[in-house]
Amino acid sequence: MPKAFFIDTTKCTACRGCQVGCKEWKDLPAVPTKQTGTHQNPPDLNPYNLKLVRFSEHMDKNGVVSWYFFPDQCRHCLEAPCKQASSVEGAILQDAASGAVIYTEKTAQEDFEIIRGACPYNIPRLDPQTKRIVKCDMCIDRVKANLLPMCVKSCAMGAMSFGERADMLKMAADRLAVIKKKFPKAQLCNPDDVAVIYLVADDPKKYHEFAVALGPQPMTRQQLLAGAFEPLRRMARAMQQG
Ligand code: SF4
Ligand code: SF4
Ligand code: SF4
Repeated sequence: MPKAFFIDTTKCTACRGCQVGCKEWKDLPAVPTKQTGTHQNPPDLNPYNLKLVRFSEHMDKNGVVSWYFFPDQCRHCLEAPCKQASSVEGAILQDAASGAVIYTEKTAQEDFEIIRGACPYNIPRLDPQTKRIVKCDMCIDRVKANLLPMCVKSCAMGAMSFGERADMLKMAADRLAVIKKKFPKAQLCNPDDVAVIYLVADDPKKYHEFAVALGPQPMTRQQLLAGAFEPLRRMARAMQQG
């Protein structure tokens, strides 16, 4: 059965436990950062921060300030545009049991800009050391061992849940019905397309520029060319391998 996350941003306190838990489990190095006048740190996803709690501040017409928190990560799209844009066999896989979209070491052979450009959520990042493209892998090692992804395990507020997709969809719909009574603009972000389902209490764009995908992404010229030449590339690779 496919798996899914339900991330209820109305319960998130931006403690960043999930961000730190991810870094710890993935054994990713610390990177120097500096205070940029916001709680969000580091400023963006990077090869060593596969999860980032995004923070934004908004003031209404009465001068009331609200804080919006958005724990960002790969959505593990059901039909992943990054996988569709891939031109290297075995570089981007989808685990049949969980639905996790997995990047392998073969992503080092991909054109990074094509893969990043295909993602409607602006998730993939390039590791300058290994040349691999990297992102959240759903903690597939833990999931295969019947353990929760580390970010979910790390969330003391109960803002993150993980389980069978059908159960997460029901949990999300039930919670949305409750939250909508107080916040009429509350909604789920692309629940039919992704395995990481966010509940937001307001316009998703106020949380993050890429919180929702806005319809099918037009293919870039580079992507079209990559697809057109793929049969030739496969043939050349097969000949090289003998
Ligand atoms: Fe790929 Fe982006 Fe979807 Fe993740 S969110 S599976 S990187 S297209
Ligand atoms: Fe990080 Fe694992 Fe959570 Fe993905 S599922 S954001 S890799 S802790
Ligand atoms: Fe929000 Fe939970 Fe992450 Fe803390 S651990 S930032 S409450 S999602």
